Amino acid sequence: MKSSQVDVIVVGAGLAGLRAVHSVREAGFTVQALEAASGIGGVWHWNRYPGARCDVESYDYSYSFSEELEQEWRWTERYATQPEILRYIEHVADRFDLRRYVKLNTRVVKAQFDEDSSRWTVQTEHGEQYDAAYVIMATGQLSVTKLPEIEGFDDFAGQVLHTGQWPHDPVDFTGKRVGVIGTGSSGVQLIPIVAREAAHLTVFQRTPTFTVPANNRPIDDVEDADIKARYATRREAARMSANGLGFDPGKKSLLEATEAERIQRLEQQYQAAGFGFALAYPDILLDEKANEKVADFLREKIRLKVQDPRTAERLTPYGYPFGAKRPAVDSGYYEAFNRDNVSLVDISAEPLERITVDGLVAGGREHELDVIVFATGFDALTGSLLKPTIVGRAGQTLREKWAAGPVTYLGLGTTGFPNLFIIAGPGSPSVLANVLLGIEQHVDWIVQLLHTARARGVAEIEATPEAEHAWVEHVNERARRTLYLKAASWYLGADVPGKPRVFMPYTGGHRGYRRICDEVAANDYEGFDLITGSEVAQRRTDRQSHEVESATAR
Ligand code: NAP
Repeated sequence: MKSSQVDVIVVGAGLAGLRAVHSVREAGFTVQALEAASGIGGVWHWNRYPGARCDVESYDYSYSFSEELEQEWRWTERYATQPEILRYIEHVADRFDLRRYVKLNTRVVKAQFDEDSSRWTVQTEHGEQYDAAYVIMATGQLSVTKLPEIEGFDDFAGQVLHTGQWPHDPVDFTGKRVGVIGTGSSGVQLIPIVAREAAHLTVFQRTPTFTVPANNRPIDDVEDADIKARYATRREAARMSANGLGFDPGKKSLLEATEAERIQRLEQQYQAAGFGFALAYPDILLDEKANEKVADFLREKIRLKVQDPRTAERLTPYGYPFGAKRPAVDSGYYEAFNRDNVSLVDISAEPLERITVDGLVAGGREHELDVIVFATGFDALTGSLLKPTIVGRAGQTLREKWAAGPVTYLGLGTTGFPNLFIIAGPGSPSVLANVLLGIEQHVDWIVQLLHTARARGVAEIEATPEAEHAWVEHVNERARRTLYLKAASWYLGADVPGKPRVFMPYTGGHRGYRRICDEVAANDYEGFDLITGSEVAQRRTDRQSHEVESATAR
């Protein structure tokens, strides 16, 4: 079959894929992005459920590569809604003429490295084939949706939805009996809105979530102008912060503060900071006693907001540290449970049994429903990387290599898979910091490496086994210093039956990670083998003579 040839294949056309297309093209490489969806935008294309919005502030959750773009785009709210973010992405694609490099409705099913040519062959589900020197996986951290393993999906007479695959046409809940399963960030955003529209809403909760209020508000012209006048400083603060959000938690331990100081600080953060609440003190995710104080503060808030004490208690999280599972950022979540048309089912006590024609059975009780919404999350971080079959050296697949969990060097590459790069995936700060900043840092770093490779006639770039091993040890060691390992979270793969329990993102923070990547580049890409075309040819000759010798000996 004839292949189209390009320098770089980018898999995915969300925020990461589009940034990669832009920068790779600017650097003078030919590029083709392949996107499974019918539109660009990645998670913002798929997650169209009512209430979907970002909980990183709009001005920080936006590209920093173009000052003109920064100045001309006008965000309307502190936390942008999904439609506004998608409009922004569409604007960027048009403004930088990126669409012509993106092929939509094109799912990559296989990528295979050819050791003779040092190139990748990438196949799509429609049978097209691409031949590329490099593959950049920009497939997102939260893109492969998951559903509970229960029977009866085909029996249900009503509508079944997943927040991560929401229909393009608006869903009308008016007069309907709706069940929402899942109370992570997506459920917490969706529930108050469905509660207002539906005749009845039943929330099926397995684990109560810690949430903090979004404190969202419109952005007026004065604030917009003020932020834009100081955008460069804001960006630099973000780059120099652990979370990529520009917040500095300070040095003082929560446990050193007096009770009055602590309450005042937590209250102030709770009333204003949104997601930044988690950064009120530097040891919240490091020290169990400090964490418990914060958890107690949030538990008290639930009691104050939810009128029925029994419902309040069932909504209250215990048994895992605040922040060890991704906290949700809410707008009226707890208040929704004060409505007469909302009820809560604790499916840890009354497990989901099956779907029937009329609804859901949990704990032996049938709940009659017209719509079931699964807000049950994703096969996070590795799901989208392991969905296609990626074949590296000696026929090894990425699935085989990562059977016991993802192993990478800097999160950027993995030994045995030369010229394959991963954006903001496992082994990098990824979802633990402002992911858009992480995406841009990765793309810039990779493009600089491709420049170097081109200048030196490098044919293969591959992480060494030693560097990869040391990085995996470092990632694990950093995770062990935190409280993250004390919760059954999607960071750990604990929510997917059979998935290896490995803490996937890097907890060392954006600033520290960026410094490490910069040092690696400054030290001639230490930990990566940069192998020239002639060295590859020599290795091939050596390999062939070795094979001949072995065959003769046999
Ligand atoms: P999630 O955080 O993984 O939450 C899934 C929910 O479904 C949890 O309550 C989970 O309970 C429940 N669940 C999963 N499998 C279940 C099963 N088999 N039976 C019953 N309940 C089950 O997923 P998400 O809410 O879609 O959020 C995923 C991530 O996307 C977030 O953590 C966040 O990083 C990102 N996100 C961000 C935003 C934003 O920026 N505002 C919005 C939405 C999502 P358990 O806890 O017991 O597993």
